[in-house]
Amino acid sequence: MINNPYTYARISLKNLQHNLGVIRRTLRQGTRVMAVVKSDAYGHGLVPVSKTLEQGGIDGFGVAFVDEGIVLRQAGITAPIYILSGFQRGEEALLIDNSLTPLVYSTAQIELLNRAVGTRNLSPALHLKIDTGMGRLGFVYDDIGTLGKALRGMKRLNITGVATHLSAPRDSRPFTTIQIQRFQAVRQFLETALSKKLIAHAANTDTFFHYPGAVFDMVRSGISLYGYGQKDLKPVLSVFSRLISVKTLKKGYSISYGRTYRLKKNTTVGVIPVGYADGYLRSLSNKAFVGINGKKVYSIGRVTMNHIMIDMHNVPARVGDEVLIMGQDDSQRIGADTVATLGSTISYELLCSMGTRLKRIYE
Ligand SMILES: *Cc1c(COP(=O)(O)O)cnc(C)c1O
Repeated sequence: MINNPYTYARISLKNLQHNLGVIRRTLRQGTRVMAVVKSDAYGHGLVPVSKTLEQGGIDGFGVAFVDEGIVLRQAGITAPIYILSGFQRGEEALLIDNSLTPLVYSTAQIELLNRAVGTRNLSPALHLKIDTGMGRLGFVYDDIGTLGKALRGMKRLNITGVATHLSAPRDSRPFTTIQIQRFQAVRQFLETALSKKLIAHAANTDTFFHYPGAVFDMVRSGISLYGYGQKDLKPVLSVFSRLISVKTLKKGYSISYGRTYRLKKNTTVGVIPVGYADGYLRSLSNKAFVGINGKKVYSIGRVTMNHIMIDMHNVPARVGDEVLIMGQDDSQRIGADTVATLGSTISYELLCSMGTRLKRIYE
């Protein structure tokens, strides 16, 4: 892929460390923090982010797939790596050889792991994933028969943890409480059956900031590490571009495809080389704003593949001047959460879509 030459993502590893500090101070001492670095660390870069966090003393990493875990091991990461989406047939040896810890959600996976161990003197670690109401991956919380069968199949395997995922920590306190209660019950059942303590984890960012009762032994922290979810956190990823055209157009002139915007008076119109090919969503058309010299400047007309247009009536600027598209500079903050809301999505999607497409510069 050839990157956009004029627009880039600046990644502040200092802010990443700062955010880890904020998260640690929020949690009871001794609570483990798993850094969720799936999807190229939400577009921030899997390896540089993970190395910084390992230096900062992180307790583990969470990725979606086995391949991501292997990349981390090859980069020299030694902390536990949890595979949140489990694994599929054929990946057992990779898990074992790279000391990756899958979140297991079926008895079939347990059989596969047992078979892969074979006669080797190994006892690979795994966590059991419990579905307490997400309706996605996990042993269903009240299916004790299947859970019991899973445990009996655990001959050579080392179950070290138990996990669940909450579906509505932001939207429904009553349902979150129900999920937490279901999880408590399963955790107790498993710990009694196994006669040992397990690392229990249920909380993502929204959960651990708002439900201390759902923190258990470890949290899975994604978006908060990248700067969103609480006011003391700082954006890690900021997108910068520069003006490539400035001209004055007459009152009534229409801007961009579909002629959805007409100038209300003679206006200086700037062009910025960022568009939906860079992950700057088309749904931001006629809604978003950018920052130039500390001023808020509105985009006008539709977002196109490589460009947006802006109304520069309130800011004198020239071709070549820097533009803050998202994130933070010395004078302004345009949070990914704010931009995402304007585009009818969430910060996660915007960070992933822009971060993975743009050239990244680390500082
Ligand atoms: C992505 C993910 C997380 C991280 O959630 P944030 O809201 O970004 O903190 C935690 N747990 C699971 C299972 C996930 O898939």
